[in-house]
Amino acid sequence: MKLIRQLDAVPLLLWCILSFNFIKIINSLSLLECLNSIEGPVIYPNDKDFKPLIIDQNIRVNYTPSVLVYALNNKDVQNAVKCAISWQMNITARSGGHSYEKYGLGGRDNDIVLDLTFINSITIDSEAQTARIGAGNRLGNVYNKLNQAGFLIPAGSCPSVGIGGHALGGGFGYLGRKYGYACDNIISMQMINAEGELLHIDPFSNPDLFFALRGAGKGSFGIVTNFVFRIYPTPSLVTTMELVFNSTNMTQVYQLFHAYYQVGPSLDNDIAFKMRLRNDSLSIIGLYLGSSKNATKAMEKFLSKAPEQIKPIVLNETTFFNSIALLYNVNKYEVVNPGHVPNFFKVKSFFVNIDKELENRAIDNLVNFLNEINKGPCETFASFDLHGGVSEIHRNNSFIHRNAAYCIQIETGWKSKEEGAECVKELNDFGREFQSYTSNFSYQGFIDRDLDKWQTRYYGDDVFKKLVDIKKVYDPKNLFNFNQSIPVKL
Ligand SMILES: Cc1cc2nc3c(=O)[nH]c(=O)nc-3n(C[C@H](O)[C@H](O)[C@H](O)COP(=O)(O)OP(=O)(O)OC[C@H]3O[C@@H](n4cnc5c(N)ncnc54)[C@H](O)[C@@H]3O)c2cc1C
Repeated sequence: MKLIRQLDAVPLLLWCILSFNFIKIINSLSLLECLNSIEGPVIYPNDKDFKPLIIDQNIRVNYTPSVLVYALNNKDVQNAVKCAISWQMNITARSGGHSYEKYGLGGRDNDIVLDLTFINSITIDSEAQTARIGAGNRLGNVYNKLNQAGFLIPAGSCPSVGIGGHALGGGFGYLGRKYGYACDNIISMQMINAEGELLHIDPFSNPDLFFALRGAGKGSFGIVTNFVFRIYPTPSLVTTMELVFNSTNMTQVYQLFHAYYQVGPSLDNDIAFKMRLRNDSLSIIGLYLGSSKNATKAMEKFLSKAPEQIKPIVLNETTFFNSIALLYNVNKYEVVNPGHVPNFFKVKSFFVNIDKELENRAIDNLVNFLNEINKGPCETFASFDLHGGVSEIHRNNSFIHRNAAYCIQIETGWKSKEEGAECVKELNDFGREFQSYTSNFSYQGFIDRDLDKWQTRYYGDDVFKKLVDIKKVYDPKNLFNFNQSIPVKL
């Protein structure tokens, strides 16, 4: 009897496997048919071009989408969203593929990935000082095009970051102290919603989405295809700066951190500083929007409090466009033609707010951590983006980090896949301990899958609640979701 039951089970199992595969084949055939209406390239895993197209900046993790849809226009995005709805599949937007957690591929397998690379027009209205920018542009392309018309936009320093994911999650760079985050300068947007409809979003049309997208807009509410940004005239001359300090004399290290915190945020907003601490060096690179003479004057207060430098200060007068390449240590070709530099890395971020200075004990811990971890394969450093001016620019959006004196980013990188687990663990362990010395907040632009209480740390409790309410209205079925997206309920 038992044997007969077992024999019965074999064909049943076979039938199940066959029918499951059959359903999968039918589904993928139907998806293929559905996506036939897309004008842009639609690339499936069996295509020889597929593999290189899913290698983004961070190769620590990788995921395989069901299909890559390269939209040419809003209609393509609308059609792809409608296919995702019909076939009950996840759909994820990818702009520049620079998510620290590969969320541009959904952070999981089998998504429809809607790539915006070809929605990349840039139209400048010099009189109104605005620019309409397609979400598929990389920052280098944006800087280049605007520069040709005599304008700039406040955004990040890496030319290959996509403006889409960047501006929707904040977007901080050397111009941030003066002009705010990229998200602060969004005037309006076009977005495809969870019904596949095209929405215009500005303070008057869909104002709640206008609030949510500018800070918490990555992957949670819809696919933004175009932005209109406020832009600013480029100064005729800027000055890049490099200051080098003693990294082994802890009294001097404390003194520099103290000056950075006490004086830094109130410095003239034409100054941008990024301090870097490595196991063997401590330096500041910076930008002044003006001449070297004025830069020296504007830094006087800071220099009088900072320890003596161990090398003469380097001030380099140049054009704003040249400064992008200089400050990111790339050549101009890479700014005009940005591409991925795939590498293994993990990042954690912390805000030090103006109401709580980093104690000497925390600096000791950080220095010791960097000394220890750099003995192994995990090349690790910390950088500190000076804030200050940006706090004054609050344009009623979901970006809450307005009290920051500076933002800390600790990055670890390694050469071969096998080394990754140890480096990630060491950084995660250190991050948990280090959190107690800083504010409760972290930067959602430096997204971190391992971060605890990310809802509060990225958005604060009140704004997070508001975001959930907005999500319920615009995407109640949670079509746009990933591991750290805004949920439909608390
Ligand atoms: C090398 C490097 C340097 C960086 N430098 C800076 C810096 O100087 N300043 C700073 O603030 N940040 C910086 N970042 C962080 C960067 O801003 C974020 O990783 C940003 O999210 C990347 O955007 P993306 O479009 O390139 O990424 P993607 O991987 O394409 O997307 C990131 C997330 O945004 C979503 N998304 C993308 N496009 C859209 C869209 N059009 N509509 C809706 N959702 C979308 C994706 O689904 C995903 O969840 C840097 C990152 C890297 C890797």
